[in-house]
Amino acid sequence: MRCPFCGNIDTQVKDSRPAEDHVAIRRRRFCPACGGRFTTYERVQLRDLIVIKSNGRREDFDRPKLERSIRIALQKRPVEPERMDQMISGIVRRLESMGETDIPSGTIGEIVMEALARIDTVAYVRFASVYKNFQAADDFDKFVSELRPDDPEE
Ligand SMILES: [Zn+2]
Repeated sequence: MRCPFCGNIDTQVKDSRPAEDHVAIRRRRFCPACGGRFTTYERVQLRDLIVIKSNGRREDFDRPKLERSIRIALQKRPVEPERMDQMISGIVRRLESMGETDIPSGTIGEIVMEALARIDTVAYVRFASVYKNFQAADDFDKFVSELRPDDPEE
C-alpha cells in the first residue's frame, strides 16, 4: 500500500482488527520512509459499481471520494468516526444491493443526503447546498473542494 504522504510503496502493517461489526478489517499502517501513519480498511466488494454522470460519462465508483465528501460535510460535527464509517458502509451496501451495476450520480447524491439527514442536520445542509449547485456541472472534484471549509484542520 502506497504511503499517502510520501508515495513510498513499502509500508508496514502495525495492527489489524475487525471493524464495523466484522464487515471490515481495519489496518494501522506505518511508513518507514517518512514516519507517516495511516489506516486502511479491507472489505468485501460485492460487485463493481459504475457511476453514470449527468453528461453520460461512466466512471468506476470511487469509495474514497465518497468518504472524502462525507468527512468534509461532517467536519467538526459531534459525530463519532465509527458512526460515520457505519453510515458510509451502509450507503455503499445500499448501492451494491440496488440490483444495478450502473448507478446515476444523482442517485448517489440523494442517498448520501438521506443518510446525512438522519445523523446530523448541519452536515446535511452543508452537503445539500453544495451538491445542488454542482449537480448541473457534475464536477465532483470541484464539488469536494467547494465543500472544504476555510480552515482545513485534518
Ligand atoms: Zn511515507
